[in-house]
Amino acid sequence: MAPRRAALYIRVSTEEQARKGYSLPAQKEDLEEYAHKNGYAIAGYYIDEGKSARKKYTKRKEFMRMLEDVKAGKIDVILFIKLDRWFRSVADYYKIQEILDAHNVAWKTTQEHYDTETTNGRLYINIRLSVAQDESDRDSDRIKFVFDSKVARGEVISGSLPMGLMIQDKHVVPDPETADIVREFFRHYKEHGTINGAMTYIRETYGIILWDPSARKMLHNPLYKGMYRDNPNYCEPLIPPEEFDAIQKLLERRSIRQNESGRVYIFAGLLKCQECGQKMTGSHSTDKKCERKFYRCRNATIYHRCTHRRQMGENKLEKWLLLNLPLELDRWETEWNIATSKVKHPKVDRAAIQRKMDRLKDLYVNELITMEQYREDWAKYSAQLQEAQETEPTPPPDFRSLRELLQYELPNIYPTLTPEQHRDLWRSVIQEICLDGDNIPRVIFRE
Ligand SMILES: [Zn+2]
Repeated sequence: MAPRRAALYIRVSTEEQARKGYSLPAQKEDLEEYAHKNGYAIAGYYIDEGKSARKKYTKRKEFMRMLEDVKAGKIDVILFIKLDRWFRSVADYYKIQEILDAHNVAWKTTQEHYDTETTNGRLYINIRLSVAQDESDRDSDRIKFVFDSKVARGEVISGSLPMGLMIQDKHVVPDPETADIVREFFRHYKEHGTINGAMTYIRETYGIILWDPSARKMLHNPLYKGMYRDNPNYCEPLIPPEEFDAIQKLLERRSIRQNESGRVYIFAGLLKCQECGQKMTGSHSTDKKCERKFYRCRNATIYHRCTHRRQMGENKLEKWLLLNLPLELDRWETEWNIATSKVKHPKVDRAAIQRKMDRLKDLYVNELITMEQYREDWAKYSAQLQEAQETEPTPPPDFRSLRELLQYELPNIYPTLTPEQHRDLWRSVIQEICLDGDNIPRVIFRE
């Protein structure tokens, strides 16, 4: 029998070249090794260099060439290292999967395990892609690249620093006025193992009030051991690295212990109080040995600044969603269409704004303007650009795969998933759920 013919697909964006395991040679080596181990014959290399996952796949030349070879029957299986090499868009994924299925071509990731044969496996891919999409939306690659080179030189890239650190001659150094407070905070946590205890100690000793969760964040902030992004020697450590790492282990153990109760809030971060705009937080009560989880607006129940005093039970909301989500999707789609048909379309020269932004970046990189100036102008231009984008007619989002998922797959799969998977699933589909004062939900879907 002839060996299966494998296409090796490599995508590397400009700033990833320097990232461990992501450079072109690293990906290539990994794929070749996998092919040899599994007895594949290498049918070809398809390498998209300098392409970020944000680019539509039709802009990836080598990807398109590979697709032609798939259609010509030259390939049996496609190999790439991780799903993030493939797509960031769920819609693109389905489009390509259809082509691959039609030509009986499979794909495999060498560093992650996916199963495209079962419904459960496919749902998992869907969730992973949605989460990846969210991450890549968060910050623009271009800006990150500028920042990364500054980080490599140990230079300051942001004006706001956590307590205990300050900026001197463009570098981060311990702040003599507050460094000891931070050291004491870490020390107390390390000795007693409770964040609340350490916060109280700082308040009573120095009269300084730390807030949870910012205190919690401090304990996790690697800047205190001198590390920033990929640079371990970014600045002088305030906490010795070994000690910082030991504390991370302690934090991890404690968070596992806390989770041993199995308490997962599956709608954490998704619910919004429509009365005051605040995110609603999860809480629990136990009576007659039966635990009940619910969400509430803290502005109303604790601070009495909002009228939304009713709690929303987690079970109740879950049942409601499973029943009503397809209807909510109809409503959301209709509203979306009405909203976009109302928008007027004045002409804005987007290319001109883009040129201004490029120029601004050059000024900043060459240190002709300050960080503050740069940020201010950048924000101004991005607002203009966004406005221009918003006023352009946008094609309607494609809800077909989501509709299919909700109607046919979800009811069967949902009971088989763990609470953590439930949480990931809702997060991958829903942007936000608004609850009004009577707890009537309104779902906003991810586009
Ligand atoms: Zn409220």
